Amino acid sequence: MVTVEVDQDLCIGDEICASTVPDIFEMDDMDGLAYVVDGNEELDDESLVEMAREAEQACPVDAITVSE
Ligand code: SF4
Repeated sequence: MVTVEVDQDLCIGDEICASTVPDIFEMDDMDGLAYVVDGNEELDDESLVEMAREAEQACPVDAITVSE
């Protein structure tokens, strides 16, 4: 099982993750920051894991953590 987390203290709300991988990340209307979509904090689908890792690499402030 792979865990996905977003650190809202680091997120700058540029929407890169939510626009590229909306199955995993979404923007909050209230604070404008990224969150993991409810129910997708733990992934076992390999294609979703791959997309989460790409988002982790793409985040400009390293706010996304994907861990085993
Ligand atoms: S890519 Fe990073 S900085 Fe941009 S919205 Fe997602 S978590 Fe926030």
